[in-house]
Amino acid sequence: MNSCNGDYNEDNIFFKIINGVIPCNKIIENQNTLSFYDVNPKALIHLLVIPKNNYKNFFSFQESATFQEKEDFWNCVQESVKKLNLQQGGFRIISNCGQFANQEVPHFHVHILGGQQL
Ligand code: AMP
Repeated sequence: MNSCNGDYNEDNIFFKIINGVIPCNKIIENQNTLSFYDVNPKALIHLLVIPKNNYKNFFSFQESATFQEKEDFWNCVQESVKKLNLQQGGFRIISNCGQFANQEVPHFHVHILGGQQL
């Protein structure tokens, strides 16, 4: 069960992306954060933003990440939005956390959806 609490499990696809084991279609990165396109897009433009350190979900990121990691994370969100020009028409940010939200990958991420009427 993928609860909101509990330990980080390195056996997940985003851990492998961060460690270069599998590739991603990168948009941008900074010291603590990476953004890339979702392989199964739910909108014309669908990207993911993830911290490079190991946080299971939004909850653990908020509780344990450093100020710098949080700043870098939200800067990466902003810079990704700007790079893809999503602020023009508008966009949606979502983070699934735990079982009730059907979080599939237990490494904190936000989805950014845009490029069309949602
Ligand atoms: P969530 O349900 O919030 O955990 O969503 C996980 C997202 O990761 C889904 O939208 C998947 O399409 C996406 N995903 C899974 N594997 C990959 C991958 N290798 N590269 C990019 N996105 C992926």
